[in-house]
Amino acid sequence: MTRKQGRTSLRNVRGPLLRWFGRHARDLPWRRTRDPYAIWVSEIMLQQTQVRTVLPYYERFLARFPDVRSLAAASEEEVLAAWSGLGYYRRARSLRAGARAVLERHAGVLPGDADALRTLPGIGRYTAGAIASIAFGKPEPVLDGNVRRVLSRLLMENDDRTLWTAAATLVRGKQPGRLNEALMELGALVCTPAAPRCPGCPVRGHCAANARACPEAYPSSRIMPRPRTVRAAVAWIQRGGRVLLERPSNGSPLRGHWDLPATEIRETADPTAAIRDKLRRARLEVTVGSSIASLRHGIMNRRLTLEVFDCRLRKGRVAGRDDLLWVSPGELPTTPHSGATKKIVRRRESSTRSPGARSGLRLFR
Ligand code: SF4
Repeated sequence: MTRKQGRTSLRNVRGPLLRWFGRHARDLPWRRTRDPYAIWVSEIMLQQTQVRTVLPYYERFLARFPDVRSLAAASEEEVLAAWSGLGYYRRARSLRAGARAVLERHAGVLPGDADALRTLPGIGRYTAGAIASIAFGKPEPVLDGNVRRVLSRLLMENDDRTLWTAAATLVRGKQPGRLNEALMELGALVCTPAAPRCPGCPVRGHCAANARACPEAYPSSRIMPRPRTVRAAVAWIQRGGRVLLERPSNGSPLRGHWDLPATEIRETADPTAAIRDKLRRARLEVTVGSSIASLRHGIMNRRLTLEVFDCRLRKGRVAGRDDLLWVSPGELPTTPHSGATKKIVRRRESSTRSPGARSGLRLFR
């Protein structure tokens, strides 16, 4: 199939794609609304994050911040707490900054124009197109990873500019938002990165890569940096019913807002000595006890191996400091923290609930 033929058949893709979407679209909460604010929140949360991860966060976030005004009025700390564990915290900060900008510049009403949307913090070409088309019915294209893959295969084309043009051609017509959602859904469910389900694909008759039996060759893979493996020693310092968190410095291997004290260590280093040194720099003296957990966690392009040690605070002041915080279980949900800290806390809770757990290590007694 030539490139020109590919363009021609692109126009014939709309009908089968929309019909397929009508039959196979997943029932997702952001598809039950046309509220531009809710769609904006969902689009930001879905960036680089899987649907099943986003679902509980989306519901909770909207319950906590139901509209632009409530989000704009919230402190950064409150917004980060609601985002805790979802990762890529810059998205949460941008969303809050965007809400404040909508309040100041647009009287709290999200504009329907893609160009106006793109002037808001955290909203790029893709997000503007998604909000404008899905919430406002504007014929604006989108090109996220799923759509890029579908179009790249339909046209056997890798150039992003050409793919944006194809997306713009395709979205012209009735139901532009639904068309964009259908493209995203096809990429998520059928035209998957590996082993696309071409025999069941509604647009296979118009697909150049399918005709050449080479869908997986498109889009040509970009060279991704290999994830960096990081070993970290983590201090679990508990006093009564509370555990000590710190505001991590830029160099911390955990990157939330408040996290368990942690330090990156070399393969051959002694983790207990590293913890002592790290806390000494924070003007705390601790006794490092036994290893209480070892777990893996992925953050962006890093794979962390976390070695957690039970520590006892011997000397040092915590009260009145803005870089250290004792938190109880009740305070944890409203204290922004990383997915790594969340994972360690869960591990501690489940291990201390087990029948053989040592009572001396019970979490949050
Ligand atoms: Fe993707 Fe295959 Fe459908 Fe082409 S036919 S769009 S490669 S699933």
